[in-house]
Amino acid sequence: MDAEQLRENAHIMVDFIADYYKSIENFPVLSQVEPGYLRKLLPDSAPNQPESLQNVLDDVQAKILPGVTHWQSPNYFAYYPSNSSVAGFLGEMLSAGINMVGFSWITSPAATELEMIVLDWLGKLLKLPQDFLSTGQGGGVIQGTASEAVLVVLVAARDKVLRRLGKNALQKLVVYASDQTHSALQKACQIGGIHPENCKLLKTDSSTDYALSPDLLSKAISDDISLGLIPFFLCGTVGTTSSTAADPLLALGKITKSNGIWFHVDAAYAGSACICPEYRPYIDGVEEADSFNMNAHKWFLTNFDCSALWVKDRNALIQSLSTNPEFLKNKASQANDVVDYKDWQIPLGRRFRSLKLWMVLRLYGLENLQCYIRNHINLAKCFEGLVAADSRFEVVTPRIFSLVCFRLLPPDNSEDHGNSLNHDLLDAVNSTGKIFLSHTVLSGKYILRFAVGAPLTEERHVTAAWKVLQDETSALSRSL
Ligand SMILES: *Cc1c(COP(=O)(O)O)cnc(C)c1O
Repeated sequence: MDAEQLRENAHIMVDFIADYYKSIENFPVLSQVEPGYLRKLLPDSAPNQPESLQNVLDDVQAKILPGVTHWQSPNYFAYYPSNSSVAGFLGEMLSAGINMVGFSWITSPAATELEMIVLDWLGKLLKLPQDFLSTGQGGGVIQGTASEAVLVVLVAARDKVLRRLGKNALQKLVVYASDQTHSALQKACQIGGIHPENCKLLKTDSSTDYALSPDLLSKAISDDISLGLIPFFLCGTVGTTSSTAADPLLALGKITKSNGIWFHVDAAYAGSACICPEYRPYIDGVEEADSFNMNAHKWFLTNFDCSALWVKDRNALIQSLSTNPEFLKNKASQANDVVDYKDWQIPLGRRFRSLKLWMVLRLYGLENLQCYIRNHINLAKCFEGLVAADSRFEVVTPRIFSLVCFRLLPPDNSEDHGNSLNHDLLDAVNSTGKIFLSHTVLSGKYILRFAVGAPLTEERHVTAAWKVLQDETSALSRSL
């Protein structure tokens, strides 16, 4: 790494990125390319001789950007947001600059210690119980994604039970969640050796706004116990990916506690909103949980990837993930030793990701972060009002955070309850390239999702998006 070369080239790159952000609204939000488009545009093999940065950037402009779906566009309303910010970007840059591999404390003490401090800070902003902070038996760790977070806690919970009951109990272990739970849980069960039939996704419907019913959970647990099975893990979600349903943590936590079940709370998207006192009640009951996860890279201005996981019993994690027999033999003495984050995650190596979260917390401050969340929720409210005022549409589930689930009402004689109609509308809207939305299915109905959360989105983008939806609806009904 030549420092002067870095200075010169990085300035060019920053200019390129700044220009990208300036012109981001000119691109179709959803990439319009066909599969395999890039192979036709690039040579078959890597160059023998170095090329200039300008040549590469020209290719980025001409060949790469057309194949990018612009997640940071203000007209991006699909899935959930994945925020970037100047603060997050600067943190990424610094992390790339230092470029250390911090698997154990000694490989970069600051990386481990900053991560512990920053997750304690964030835990306090979320008013997580003391037990989750690093000052007690628990602590926070940055995982890459919510999927990794649920996998590591599932494995910790599994091994805790197997240490007590013996390895043969594995085939009897049962996991519970609602049928709205992110597929990451199912993947964790597959990797974790849980029998596929023992990953029980309990049915939800509109009567609970798609939240998990505690009664249903109690019944499933007692049925399974009477069959000789061993319930050991519950994944509750606050802010489901499909419709932002919020499982009732307090009632669920009482059940898991009395049955000795590990309770994981997935608040990947909605966790960010809980820094605002008016949204914090959605995670009331988190004191009953064993682990809690939120994605700072979704709605917290921290560039991907940065998923914050807190556990109450860090030794449970380490006992599953450490390969050091000394630890397994003598965990009491190790408990007071330094943290080696390699024992809290799947890979050995890890990036200095806490820098970007630290930057975000310091360069914004709590009050600005709260305003940021509230602004998106107000924009979603505004969109909800527009939908409700148009008799051709309905809002499908009550909006809680910044996602609106809605659909075009079908004519009375519609054979598929308007599913193909809404599918066609979504296709038409996304093909314009002006906005990008995604969909979900609730109780067999095809539903459109409007998720506000891109950092650049303002009210004018929301009203323009609604206009696109209305225009495409009119065009669709004319063509019927
Ligand atoms: C987005 C999301 C996930 C998956 O997030 P990754 O970080 O990509 O693994 C899991 N759960 C919920 C509720 C989500 O919204």
